Amino acid sequence: MTVVYNFSAGPATLPGTVLNRAREELLDWHGSGMSVMEMSHRGKEFMSIAQQAEADLRELLVIPADYHVLFLQGGATSQFSMVPMNLLRGRQQADYINTGAWSKKAIAEARRYCSVNLAASSEDSNFTTVPPVDNWQLDPAAAYVHYTPNETIGGVEFDAIPETGAVPLVADMSSTILSRPLDVSRYGLIYAGAQKNIGPAGLTVVIVRNELVGEVLDGTPSMFNYQLHAENGSMLNTPPTFAWYLAGLVFQWIREQGGLEAMAEVNQRKAGRLYEAIDRSDFYNSPVDLRYRSWMNVPFTLADDSLDAEFLIQAGNTGLLNLKGHRSVGGMRASIYNAMPEAGVSALIDFMAEFERSRG
Ligand SMILES: *Cc1c(COP(=O)(O)O)cnc(C)c1O
Repeated sequence: MTVVYNFSAGPATLPGTVLNRAREELLDWHGSGMSVMEMSHRGKEFMSIAQQAEADLRELLVIPADYHVLFLQGGATSQFSMVPMNLLRGRQQADYINTGAWSKKAIAEARRYCSVNLAASSEDSNFTTVPPVDNWQLDPAAAYVHYTPNETIGGVEFDAIPETGAVPLVADMSSTILSRPLDVSRYGLIYAGAQKNIGPAGLTVVIVRNELVGEVLDGTPSMFNYQLHAENGSMLNTPPTFAWYLAGLVFQWIREQGGLEAMAEVNQRKAGRLYEAIDRSDFYNSPVDLRYRSWMNVPFTLADDSLDAEFLIQAGNTGLLNLKGHRSVGGMRASIYNAMPEAGVSALIDFMAEFERSRG
């Protein structure tokens, strides 16, 4: 098989050992004679897979006992509506922080259900930074404060958890969850589409403090009700069983790597080396404020953008795939989630140096 490194922002690369394990178990899971894909979600085999995945996730993130962990569908995008439908709890307004493309989508959807107080925005800086937390105009009557700790498209990542007092903090962690240790107790709710740093597309993980669920907006569909999912062990209907199983294998893999401390160490090193390569020459540029450069998604531009197409073709020929930046930003973007090996980042850095030598 050709060795390639896939820098896609999502669906994204998965650990090779996880894929090999899934292949070994594909036709006959643990002597059951069945593929996980063929199992009843309520049978004892799948129940054990589901419970182990939740236990491993709880252990990795040290999730307190008074939080539900839900394995849902509909992507992070469904959470843009599920959050207001469930967390407004009789209030009329919520605070939102606008740091880029994903924040904007969350805000647009929330406006269908409540009055959005835009407490801070970095739009003036073209979303290359995080608005200083001290200047946020938070509304004490807000039902919650929503923010996007890592903007997958802009490559902007918070370096600390904002303090919101008694108002529950809600985070779209789709592209940063499991990249480092996290104090879950600081949050009311955390959600993440799986296809960046957890597993395959089709699964969405929600971690929510028990006391926040139970009161939904009138007309909320059952499938959008956290309480019903919690009461039914995320099996209100048929869950995405195979994606759940693969997520479980990824959680085990992270544990084998040494957990989130070890992930953080490797991720910081990978990102640090890549930014260093970008900063080393005027041939490459990073548009993002130094302090808020993402560990997970690294956008960069060529000083001469007429070379973009050639950069991408040659990178592809070298086995470095999906480096094209998001259509709204242009340039390049290297997504280097947990599963991107250090060798992949080294190969990219070597290629960048070589490309500069031949074209610079
Ligand atoms: C990818 C992404 C989304 C959208 O996820 P879907 O699962 O496609 O709905 C939302 N927020 C962030 C931060 C993302 O990275």
